[in-house]
This record gives sequence, C-alpha cells and structure tokens, in this order.
Amino acid sequence: MQHSPRIVVIGAGAAGLNVAARIRRVAPQHAVTIIEPAEHHFYQPLWTFVGGGVFPRERSRRDMADVIPDGVRWVREAAGEFKPDENLVITHSGERLGYDALVVAPGIQINWRAIPGLKESLGTQGVCSNYSYDSVNSTWEQLEALRSGEAIFTFPTTPIKCAGAPLKIMFLAEDYLRRTGSRAAVNVRYRCGVGTIFRAPKYAQELVKIAAARAVDVRYKQDLVALRPDSREAVFRDTDSGNELVEKYTMIHVAPPMGPPDFIKQSPLADGAGWVEVDKHSLQHVRFPNVFSLGDASSLPTSKTAAAIRAQGPVLTANLLAVLRGQAPRARYLGYTSCPLVTGYGRLMLAEFDYDLQPCETFPFDQGKERRSMYLLKKYLMPTLYWQGLVRGRNWPWPIPEFGLPRA
Ligand SMILES: Cc1cc2nc3c(=O)[nH]c(=O)nc-3n(C[C@H](O)[C@H](O)[C@H](O)COP(=O)(O)OP(=O)(O)OC[C@H]3O[C@@H](n4cnc5c(N)ncnc54)[C@H](O)[C@@H]3O)c2cc1C
Repeated sequence: MQHSPRIVVIGAGAAGLNVAARIRRVAPQHAVTIIEPAEHHFYQPLWTFVGGGVFPRERSRRDMADVIPDGVRWVREAAGEFKPDENLVITHSGERLGYDALVVAPGIQINWRAIPGLKESLGTQGVCSNYSYDSVNSTWEQLEALRSGEAIFTFPTTPIKCAGAPLKIMFLAEDYLRRTGSRAAVNVRYRCGVGTIFRAPKYAQELVKIAAARAVDVRYKQDLVALRPDSREAVFRDTDSGNELVEKYTMIHVAPPMGPPDFIKQSPLADGAGWVEVDKHSLQHVRFPNVFSLGDASSLPTSKTAAAIRAQGPVLTANLLAVLRGQAPRARYLGYTSCPLVTGYGRLMLAEFDYDLQPCETFPFDQGKERRSMYLLKKYLMPTLYWQGLVRGRNWPWPIPEFGLPRA
C-alpha cells in the first residue's frame, strides 16, 4: 500500500507555520512534520512597539506547542544536515527523516559577534537592539533614560529582516524625545551602511523628507564595524573610501549584521551567498524539484518580511502539492512585500511593493503619506491578522494587491 505523502517543514516561524497549516487544511491526507528546536514562537513585528514602549514584550511570545497546527508532528530539535539526493534531513541528535517534499524555512541568522564589542555590551552601557526578544526591552530602557547627548541608530550592509525596522525605532525615539521635551538636547543620527534609506523609491523619497523635517542627521554608506563600550564610541567604516570614523554615543540602537543560517550555507541547498536557492516565481529549488523555500532563509530577492510570507505561502503550497501530484508548478510569486513604516506615535506609511520595487498598494489612497489610520492598522489589526491568519495558514479578509496569485 502506498504511504501518504510525507512533507517535512524546517522551522516553525511565520513561514513554516503558514505552509504547514495550509497543507493540513487543503490536503489533510498528507503527513506533515515540523522540525523546530524553540519552545516559543515570536511575533517579531511587535518588537518595534516594544522598543518604543507601546507594548510589553510578552505580547509577542506564544508557546510553540500552541501554534503548531493540529495533526502536525513536531520534532523538537534542530535540523542539521540535508541529503537531498536521498530525500533525507538529519537532525542534531542524528534522527533521519525521509520526505516526499521538503519546505526549508529556518529564518535568517543574526551575527551579533560580527561587531566586536556588541554582544558583550548589548543591553548595557547605552547599547540596545530591537532585533531579539532578549534585547528588545533594553531599547525602551535606554530611551526612557535619555535626557541629552547622542542617539545613534544603525543599519548594516548585509540583508536584514524588515529593512524598515531600524528606521521605525529611530522615528519613534525622535518622537518620544520631542514629546518629553528632551529633543533639543539630543542629536538623533541615522547611520546607514547602504546608499539609500529604503529600497522602494516611492517611499524612500518621503522618508528622506520626513527625516529632514525632523532634523535627523542621516548619513549613508557608514557601516558599524566595532563598539568600544567603555568609552561609548562607535566605529564606522565608510564603504566608499574605507576610512574609519569614530562617533560618541549616549545610546546606540544596533541593527546587527545578518546572513543565512550556517547549516544552510554549508548545505547542498545553498546558492553562492548561502540562501536556499529557489526559483523566484515558483519557490521551487533550482536543483531539487521536491524542495521548496520561503521566508527569510530563501534566496527570494525581495524584502524579508512576514508580509512577504503572506503572499509566498499560498504559492508555495499550491506548487508543492502540484509537484506531489506529478504536475508542473504553475503558481507564481511576483515579489510582493510590505513594510509598515512607523514614523511616530500615531503616524505610519504603509509601503507595499513587488520585485521591481513598484508600489502594489492595498488601499484606494496614496500610501506614500504618513497616516494615523495605517498606524492603528499596525497597532490593533495586524497582530490579530498574524495570529489568526498568517500562522494558521488562512488568507487575509482582503486579497493581496498583486495580479494573478492563486490561492491555496
Ligand atoms: C524588529 C523587527 C521588526 C519587524 N517588523 C516587521 C513588520 O512590521 N512587518 C513584517 O511583515 N515583518 C516584520 N519583521 C520581519 C518578520 O518578523 C520576519 O520576516 C519573519 O518572522 C520571517 O519568518 P521566517 O519564518 O522566515 O523566520 P522566523 O519567523 O525567524 O522563524 C524561523 C524559525 O526557524 C527556526 N529554526 C532556526 N534554525 C533551525 C534549525 N536548524 N532547524 C529547525 N528550525 C530552525 C527558529 O527557531 C524559528 O522558529 C520584523 C522583524 C523584526 C526582528
């Protein structure tokens, strides 16, 4: 007798959960296994608000056991090795799991140690970061304590998850200082490792204007390469000239360098840069047809966000099930991603764009403007859409503003 098709999913983040839940709903006869070592799942988009003092960090965390879809087997450890020619994944403890189709979604790796001085000082001596559950409270602590001096916000040269997040916390901090009467005594500086404030030009133009109107000192191609916590100095390298510049800080919010997880980089699934090498439209691996990837660990050349996963999940699911039926993958992802760019308490510009960085907006008004309604959407509606929709593999109450997306 034939066994039911076995699908193994690596990672129970936004991406892995979305796909696992979808498959359980549309093809319950399939045996789905998730490999995931963490005891908690995090709604990371909330960390912007946690760092800005709006929500306690506990609101972003749920027990993993509560979000793993019913009927899915959970292997509580890390995947370590791939043997795609034998359709095998091997876990850290040596368990060998065979599959008919594999979904690889272990997220992005944060390389805290790539900046000397960062890991040791994180959460103390003015150093903070919204980029982990452990450090996110330190952002609000530093901000609340800040009365005068230099507040620096960094953006690295590597790909990162939510490329808007370093900007959002900078704008929230600036607004907080203004509201509490300390703004005149604090220089707010944004140090960007790359040459633009945001990739999609429509929103970048507005962000540059907003930063100028708020007297933020923005510099480009300044890559944070070291911290000297004892003297509260940040060392930047100018990516054009290679020269080093040292700046004093009272507080510094660091968006750390990131990259593909080491175990992916060292695997046969990786592209030259270390990401899971998939076709950018079908999400199918370019060498192993029964392997798929989405989310932050994938090679998809779009901004790494949970919002992008909302559009990738249905495409991947439809294509994976087609391949298991012996059909060609026909569903196409066109690069949809979104970034709710918080520009202050009560203000937000909702960026939505595709692979060509062209806007593909949901609402029938110009989303390139700061709006209170969009802030309320992020603060109150998006958490519900995440917990009730994304991680449960359900579609949004409104369609993705992208032509031709099939639904699974
Ligand atoms: C501060 C901040 C703000 C953000 N703001 C937004 C926003 O406003 N909007 C938005 O859309 N997105 C935002 N994001 C980005 C969003 O959270 C990520 O893009 C999304 O979570 C990526 O999902 P993922 O499943 O690919 O990775 P993750 O959600 O990071 O999950 C990866 C999972 O894989 C597991 N894993 C790792 N290694 C292994 C292994 N070896 N074996 C098995 N499992 C493994 C991990 O434990 C984890 O559970 C933000 C992120 C941050 C940090």
